[in-house]
Amino acid sequence: MITPRDSIGQRSETVRRANLAAIATQLHLDGPLSRSELVARTGLTRSAIRGLIGEFVAAGLVNEERSDSLGAPGRPSPIVTPNGMSAVALGLEISVDSLAAGLIGFAGEVHAAVRVERPRGHLAATEIVADLVEVATPLLRRAEAGTLMGVGVAVVGIVRRPDGLVRLAPNLGWRDVPLGEMLAQALGIEVPIFVANDADLGVLAEHRRGTARGIEDAFYLAGEVGVGGGALVDGRPMHGAEGYAGEIGHLPVNPEGLDCACGSRGCWETEVGEHALLAAAGRPRDGGPEEVGRLLDAAAAGDPVALAAFQRVGAWLGVGIASIVNTFNPRLVILGGLFARIHPHVIGPITQRLAVRALAASRELVTIVPAALGADTTLLGAAELAFEPFLSDPAAWLAPRDGEVHLASA
Ligand SMILES: [Zn+2]
Repeated sequence: MITPRDSIGQRSETVRRANLAAIATQLHLDGPLSRSELVARTGLTRSAIRGLIGEFVAAGLVNEERSDSLGAPGRPSPIVTPNGMSAVALGLEISVDSLAAGLIGFAGEVHAAVRVERPRGHLAATEIVADLVEVATPLLRRAEAGTLMGVGVAVVGIVRRPDGLVRLAPNLGWRDVPLGEMLAQALGIEVPIFVANDADLGVLAEHRRGTARGIEDAFYLAGEVGVGGGALVDGRPMHGAEGYAGEIGHLPVNPEGLDCACGSRGCWETEVGEHALLAAAGRPRDGGPEEVGRLLDAAAAGDPVALAAFQRVGAWLGVGIASIVNTFNPRLVILGGLFARIHPHVIGPITQRLAVRALAASRELVTIVPAALGADTTLLGAAELAFEPFLSDPAAWLAPRDGEVHLASA
C-alpha cells in the first residue's frame, strides 16, 4: 500500500528523473551551456539546477568551470561541459559499397570513425557481420575508457525495429535477416543494439545536429546503389504502421525502365542510384564510390560525357523530388550520401524539373540542400538511437558504488 508520504516521495523522484533527462538532453544537443542558460531552457530554479548538475559531475558525465565572461555584471555563471568520453555509443553503418563504425560521445562528438570499402559480391549477412566486428573492435576497446550506452546500426533496408530484423534489403540480397541478434552474438557485449533504416537515421541526425535543426518538416534522401527516404513531419519522424515507410527509391517512375532489385521495374533508384549514374557515363556500373570520384573529377574538368550523365541523373532526381515536394510539403529536402557528393552537378537540373513538375505552392517553400554532417550523417543518427534510453532516463545510469556515483549500464 502506498501511504501519502510514499506517494509524495515517488512524485518527487519522478520529477527528479524528468529534470535530469531534460538537462542531459540539452547538453547532448547543444554542448557546453552555462548554468544560467540551463535555468532559462528548463525553467528549473537555480538551486535545482545546481543540485542536479552536481549529480552529473559526481558521475563524471560533465565538468563545471567558472566562465570568464568579460565585463558581464554580477557573478559569472559556471559553464557545464559534457565529458564526451564518459558516455559513448557505437554507431555502425551497412551500405552496399561500404561498412563504417564510429565511436560517438555524449554531446555528439565523433571520437573515432572507420570506413572500409568492400570488394563487390561479398554481401552475405554472416560475412558482413564478421567484417563489421573487425572494424568495430578497436573502437570498442577505446570505449572502455567510458560507459558504452548502446549500439546503433544503420542498414540500407527495411527494418522491423523492435527486434532488428531486416525484412528486405534488395541491394544486399537480404530477406528476413535477424541482424540485431547476429550482431549481439558476434560483438559479445551486453548493451542494447538498435537497428534502423539508414535514411530514417539520416533525417534524425540532420534534425538534431545538422541542416534541419529547428525545422519541423524535412525529407532526407539517402543515395547510394539504392535510394532511401526519411521523412520528418510536424517535427516527428514518419515511420508508418510497422516502420517500413519512406521507401521512396521504389517509387515507380519509368514504365519503360530497368528491372529493380526489389522485383519491380522502373523504380526511381534504377534511374538515379549509383549504378544508373555510372552507366549513364559509360563507366563500369559496379565501380563504386571511387569511380564516382573519377566521374566528379571528369565533370570538373569539363568532360561532356560526365556532364551529360549528371544532367540525366539530375533530371530524374527532379522528377522524384517533385513527388516528394507535392506529397509532403517539406521546407527542406536534404541530399545525403552519393547525392550530397554530386549536389553541385545535379542541383541545376533538379531545380529545372521542379519548376515544371512540382506544385508552385509547395515548391516556393522548399530548399534542396546537401546533408550538413557529411559522411558521418548516418553514423551520428545511429548513435542518437543508442543514446535515447540514456537521455530519456539518465538517473537509471547513475549508480552508487563504493560510496561514489558512477555511470553504469542501466
Ligand atoms: Zn524497386
